Amino acid sequence: MDFELPESHREIQRSVREFCARHVKPFARGWDEAERFPTELVGPLAEAGLLGIRVPEAYGGSGLDTLAYAVIVEEVAKCDGSLALTLASHNGLGTGHLLRFGSDAQRERYLPRAASGEWLAAWALTEPGSGSDAAGLRTTAVRRGEGWVLNGTKMFITQGIVGGFCVVLASTNLAAKQRGITAFVVEHGTPGFKPGRHLEKLGMRSSDTAELVFEDCYVPDSQRVGEVDHGFLDTLQILDRGRVSIAALALGLGEGSLDCAVAYAKDRQQFGRPIGDFQAIQWMLADSRAELEAARLLVYRAAWLADREPRYSREASMAKLFASEAGTRACNRALQVHGGYGYTREFPVERHLRDAKLCELGEGTSEVQRLVIARHLLEQR
Ligand SMILES: Cc1cc2nc3c(=O)[nH]c(=O)nc-3n(C[C@H](O)[C@H](O)[C@H](O)COP(=O)(O)OP(=O)(O)OC[C@H]3O[C@@H](n4cnc5c(N)ncnc54)[C@H](O)[C@@H]3O)c2cc1C
Repeated sequence: MDFELPESHREIQRSVREFCARHVKPFARGWDEAERFPTELVGPLAEAGLLGIRVPEAYGGSGLDTLAYAVIVEEVAKCDGSLALTLASHNGLGTGHLLRFGSDAQRERYLPRAASGEWLAAWALTEPGSGSDAAGLRTTAVRRGEGWVLNGTKMFITQGIVGGFCVVLASTNLAAKQRGITAFVVEHGTPGFKPGRHLEKLGMRSSDTAELVFEDCYVPDSQRVGEVDHGFLDTLQILDRGRVSIAALALGLGEGSLDCAVAYAKDRQQFGRPIGDFQAIQWMLADSRAELEAARLLVYRAAWLADREPRYSREASMAKLFASEAGTRACNRALQVHGGYGYTREFPVERHLRDAKLCELGEGTSEVQRLVIARHLLEQR
């Protein structure tokens, strides 16, 4: 068994680290404080190949595997959780859905634009009344002539305002619940499709989160993604890979905060000694180190499986559950190591902690991950 990343992936890791040192780290605090999506970063991100991570080179993407995708999200999250969330949802959800289930024409239209940053992608499953019970969505798509009319409201949609297109899940047969859901790709500017209110959040403040409203929004059948009534089953596959990326995001936030805590423990003096000399501080650092290493094994394994197995839901859920909770614990300990200074905005640890909490909620809460894992256990028996 080889637990080391391949050299190709370490090279990607190094180049993303350099990108972040130059383009992200110095600005992340400012973006967070202003609660502003960094539009000026879209060009450099595209140039670095970070907006088409898994998109084949033929469509202008980087053509990388899921392990590379996880490594990239982790590396970006060490500096900025919001940007990592933007990359995860753009690459994994909106673009990922079209990459996996889009028609040739859809791939030709959307993938190059996503990879070049011309259009950021959003992906809209959640609604005001349906989150964990995602199949309980009420947005409808009704046949009219050669197309469909969409009506409904989506909630908490990343890139809801700044996106150029959105893959939206709608019911084509309400009575059939999860077996009556279909995906459509809708472009911004389509009559009847309006970004709703921008949502203010605890963390991930410079990622764009919004409501989306569909009012008699007509789309031709060519905008349907995948088979009619098959959208929810396809969505489960999108969520598997999405969960790996949120797990990688949590891991990166945990690592970023641990780096800060170690540096601070060496530097800060109390009672005439660096606080790192105190066992209470050492134990916090040690616990975080051990938990993050365990999280990394789960995350990289799930990412590796994603390119080899048709289904890896259990592994994706275990990675997300453990990494997101370990990530939050690591951020919380890092803040504790910083004492009162950690509670101020002078150090990034308070931002990391606020950002990390999202990983226990988005793309299925920790409770939902436990449900998935338990279901696998009980079905096996
Ligand atoms: C910043 C942010 C970005 C997001 N981006 C997107 C996006 O781009 N696209 C998108 O579609 N969605 C997005 N989401 C939505 C996210 O996936 C949902 O918030 C999440 O799935 C939880 O749904 P909910 O908020 O409705 O909570 P609820 O489902 O109402 O859950 C409330 C509580 O009840 C618990 N609970 C619910 N059901 C059960 C059960 N059966 N057993 C035990 N406990 C249960 C939950 O775990 C939670 O603790 C985003 C959310 C946030 C906050």
